[in-house]
Amino acid sequence: SKKVDVGELMTTKVKSTMENGRILVFVRLRPVAKKEREAGSRCCVRIVNKRDVYLTEFANENDYLRLKRLRGRHFTFDASFPDSTTQQEVYSKTTAGLVEAVLQGRNGSIFCYGATGAGKTYTMLGTMDNPGVMVLAIKDLFSKIQQRSFDENHTVHLSYLEVYNETVRDLLSPGRPLVLREDKQGIVAAGLTQYRAYSAEEVMALLQQGNLNRTTEPTRANETSSRSHAILQVVVEYQVKGASGNVVNRVGKLSLVDLAGSERAIATDQRTLRSLEGANINRSLLALSSCINALVEGKKHIPYRNSKLTQLLKDSLGGACNTVMIANISPSSLSFGETQNTLYWADRAKEIRTKACDANEETQIPDSETDQAKLLLELQKENR
Ligand code: ADP
Ligand code: MG
Repeated sequence: SKKVDVGELMTTKVKSTMENGRILVFVRLRPVAKKEREAGSRCCVRIVNKRDVYLTEFANENDYLRLKRLRGRHFTFDASFPDSTTQQEVYSKTTAGLVEAVLQGRNGSIFCYGATGAGKTYTMLGTMDNPGVMVLAIKDLFSKIQQRSFDENHTVHLSYLEVYNETVRDLLSPGRPLVLREDKQGIVAAGLTQYRAYSAEEVMALLQQGNLNRTTEPTRANETSSRSHAILQVVVEYQVKGASGNVVNRVGKLSLVDLAGSERAIATDQRTLRSLEGANINRSLLALSSCINALVEGKKHIPYRNSKLTQLLKDSLGGACNTVMIANISPSSLSFGETQNTLYWADRAKEIRTKACDANEETQIPDSETDQAKLLLELQKENR
């Protein structure tokens, strides 16, 4: 029998939704960590059909026994990645379409969102043995350029920067904070290193080194700050012959963002947002929530100016940019609250659509209440 290639279908789906200018939202579940297992935590998340996410709460098992009712929620995303998903699969389903767009001279952006320890940096940067989306994107980019007959016409430049406590720093050449300026192309960090890359091989080491330059919080020795956002921008420029024989310059920009830990900074409505504003939490992340809320509500004014991160992402969030989000979650019941918040936020982000999306469904999903209850029950049983 003919096997259906879900990857192939998703890529088609990604392409068609990109063309409709809507945000794609994915969820990635990471494997249980040793620490979590040793602490006796249980799994509270299940992913079905690479799309549906079931979350159950175990903290209230007594309630469950008393009320004979399951407490849980069901979410659905463009795709949801179980803990066995490879880096390559995550790349091809989430980002390959963006790389295509960038090679057509358009902009694209992808960001990872979630609590500290949920797997954002693993997804974006990865390890030497298991490179993540940033590296795989650049690899794919170079191999696609090589396939073009006019490949020698292309230049690729990389910049890698950090936003920490509303200060912008160059991760490729650490030094004084950078100032943001508005120019013809939008908002740019003045003096930011534009590294000309000739091959994908040199990039992993460069990015690993850049990642080491991220700010470390004094209280968290040896740990990259959970409050620092890292943004990698890849700019591809090339010339093509126009219809009348003249040479046309094309520029495409891909932004890959490893966001700060979302714990303590989640707000899916204006009231929560306001109550959080006074607290000493990540201003850029709050501003991002504000912008997303405003975009979802179709507001005319989107408050990009409120933070460095949102200024830098201005052309990547609204407008004609192709945007992808990956919400990273832990399977452990110890992170139940954070996982729930991340899923609510991701669910909200799905609503940012400028046009209706093409229907291109891939697999049958269980959607009746009995099916959902059955799955939740199974998950509960497995964890007893
Ligand atoms: P974050 O950047 O969200 O704080 P990390 O990416 O640093 O989280 O992940 C926390 C730990 O879990 C790291 O040791 C990382 O290697 C591991 N990890 C995260 N996601 C995965 C995954 N999909 N597969 C294997 N290990 C993972
Ligand atoms: Mg990280």
